[in-house]
Amino acid sequence: MHPITCIYSALPGTFQPSTPKSRYRVTNALTYTAMSTHRIELQQITLTRVGYVDVPIAPEVAGLTADDFASIPWRAPLWTEGDQLRAGAAAWFADVEGARLVFDPVQAADDVLRADQEMERAQQSVIADLFADAQFPRESVDCLVLTHIEGVGMVAWRNDDGSWSPFFPNARILVSDVALREFEASEPDGEGDLQYEAWHALIDQGVVESYADGEVIAPGVRAEVTGGHCAGHAIVHFGGANGEAEATLLGHLAVSPVHLATGECPQQHVDPAAAWSLLRALAEDGRTLIGPLWPAPGYGRWVDGAFVAGS
Ligand SMILES: [Zn+2]
Repeated sequence: MHPITCIYSALPGTFQPSTPKSRYRVTNALTYTAMSTHRIELQQITLTRVGYVDVPIAPEVAGLTADDFASIPWRAPLWTEGDQLRAGAAAWFADVEGARLVFDPVQAADDVLRADQEMERAQQSVIADLFADAQFPRESVDCLVLTHIEGVGMVAWRNDDGSWSPFFPNARILVSDVALREFEASEPDGEGDLQYEAWHALIDQGVVESYADGEVIAPGVRAEVTGGHCAGHAIVHFGGANGEAEATLLGHLAVSPVHLATGECPQQHVDPAAAWSLLRALAEDGRTLIGPLWPAPGYGRWVDGAFVAGS
């Protein structure tokens, strides 16, 4: 079983269905940040984070305790809130030479967003509207890139009859060849395994493809199959004109930026030593780091022993 089933499993509140007045709103007793957009301008690529909601979560969901990050001076207010971590439901988009890509859209929250079919229909409509309002309508996306298979997220769209379609109807869906092989060899996790049902439906529809380690997905966009988090996990490098990576999407190597400073995390990773050494190498070379589950702004840079958000 995947180590992270839902980043919101400790959240007491519920997401409200879509109505004109409640769009983008989440009801719970905790603080939250509704829709936000952040942009990274690289030499040749513009990356845009469209955020749905940021919420506090129990650190145990991400394999940590509050003591693990209590002494990190840069943890608050963005990445932690008291004894809790902050996590984000978001998608990253990239426009590359006329093609539009989206990365890890709203993953790791199926337990809330897909709690039942009524909730699914409401949530996926709200999120589709959110993307459209941010100038990224789902029909405009050419390619959906995943760092690994983790639930359904906004990869599939639940139809009224219970069947599945691609959430981004004109996009091919890319995962690593290792991840796809592992998924195809897996058995369903009991009755109502959403990941199993949705992904098999998408594979049967012929929209799922794979990338290999080192493959260039689009000009300046290169996948690296790292393992660490799970066998087929990958990160994505965004490069400049000289071919060097300016920014890297870390996938779930760091569910929170505090994982850049808390050491090996065996609760999160099949190979915690590999994940930790890779994280530190990527941090130390000063590139921009992006986390698909990080709250807004969702990115930053390691500078002089601290993580600096939005740089
Ligand atoms: Zn994961």
